[in-house]
Amino acid sequence: PRLCVVGSGPAGFYTAQHILKHHGGARVDIYEKLPVPFGLVRFGVAPDHPEVKNVINTFTQTARSERCAYYGNVTVGRDVTVTELRQAYHAVVLSYGAEDNRVLGIPGENLPGVYSARAFVGWYNGLPENRDLKPDLSCETAVILGHGNVALDIARILLSPLRLLRKTDITDSSLAALACSKVKRVWLVGRRGPLQVAFTIKELREMINLPGTRPVLNPADFTGLENAVKDAPRPRKRLTELMIKTALEKPAEKTVAQAAAMQGAPPREWGLKFQRSPQEVLTTADGRRARGVRMALTRLEVRAHGGGLVWPWQGWGWSRMPCRRGLAARRVRSPVLVQARLLCACAGLYCSGWVKRGPTGVIITTMNDSFDTAQSVLEDLQVGVLDVTASREGFGAVESILRSRGVRPVSFSDWEKIDAAEVARGKAAGKPREKIVDPEEMLRLIGH
Ligand code: FAD
Repeated sequence: PRLCVVGSGPAGFYTAQHILKHHGGARVDIYEKLPVPFGLVRFGVAPDHPEVKNVINTFTQTARSERCAYYGNVTVGRDVTVTELRQAYHAVVLSYGAEDNRVLGIPGENLPGVYSARAFVGWYNGLPENRDLKPDLSCETAVILGHGNVALDIARILLSPLRLLRKTDITDSSLAALACSKVKRVWLVGRRGPLQVAFTIKELREMINLPGTRPVLNPADFTGLENAVKDAPRPRKRLTELMIKTALEKPAEKTVAQAAAMQGAPPREWGLKFQRSPQEVLTTADGRRARGVRMALTRLEVRAHGGGLVWPWQGWGWSRMPCRRGLAARRVRSPVLVQARLLCACAGLYCSGWVKRGPTGVIITTMNDSFDTAQSVLEDLQVGVLDVTASREGFGAVESILRSRGVRPVSFSDWEKIDAAEVARGKAAGKPREKIVDPEEMLRLIGH
């Protein structure tokens, strides 16, 4: 069978890996819109978390399999349509992530000085479309809306000593902008309370221990919570206990001051603000820029629900293409039956990763989800839902379509040349790599 995957992030690679491992005859082609692979592992994961990026080694093994091919620089939906892919392959797995920003829907959110987390993260990680973001870091206080790991990633990047960031693969231009940054205080604001924060303990601990930076948590926010989490699941209990401990501890001023002196900068601070919902971005007198955010205080109501406590807003959100696969309507949750049934007409079309579940969960979650989708493909091959008696041309058919549209794909060995060039550029500066942020430059480098 000839199969293809759209998107080369964790979902695309894990789906391909599982199919190749469990079907000795299958061939999988991976299409990616950027010249370079790995999706959010390259463009989302924080530069100071290199260990998370080790999954790239596994993806590289998959891409080097003789039954797998990578075609970068091909935007599905523009350069080739899904219908054309479905004619060329026995099955198509959509794994193109969840790129849209959520909008707050409040006045002023489009003002200069307000940035989506996605764009900000893309900027410091060298995502081509965000390379020119040039965030204004001339103010002393930054507000981050959200209490998840991405919010902590951004706070950490804003407050980290430069000497630490210099050793990472953060882009040179962001490093230069951060060197001039005046930001010395970061507030992370959430609509819910301390028991609902979505970040994890590892990221919180990292923030608490950030050299030259002190946490500012209000002990009153945590009153009575020690008891409330007594019987909570262990991760929630430990996370809450760490916040309480941090809030009650007198900041070790000396240590912070010493560390700050070492880096020659005034001490920086960060804190968590709870139960605040943004209502409006306030503007400067000339109306041109953001100068603050007006917040409404929110109230949490706790309701008894089937033996457990349910907090408002908590729960699972199926946001985009939330079907497990086209033919599994009975196996998906009821709210998505309509969509799943629509897809029933599309045997041979699957989805995995964030495009299926929405932007939630870490790489391991995405891996499990992708193995699940791949398993569905394998089952459908086995029971004959996918008709493989008719041969499909695979990339042969797509290649002529792309050629007729003037699109030249980038192969995995092309990527390896870009990779080698980035590593060489980084070496000179003592960094693991210096990312090339201009796709045109990438293409020139490989002779396109
Ligand atoms: P993506 O990684 O987004 O991959 C989708 C791919 O599809 C991209 O390469 C994209 O370019 C491509 N694509 C999009 N449209 C098209 C198209 N039309 N044609 C062809 N290709 C297309 N998880 C962790 O475990 N640890 C972390 O430290 C961590 N940090 C994170 C930090 C941030 C800022 C974010 C946003 C997420 C982080 N995650 C982390 C979560 C992790 O990145 C996701 O679980 C995972 O990347 C989702 O995989 P995916 O393949 O579904 O999507």
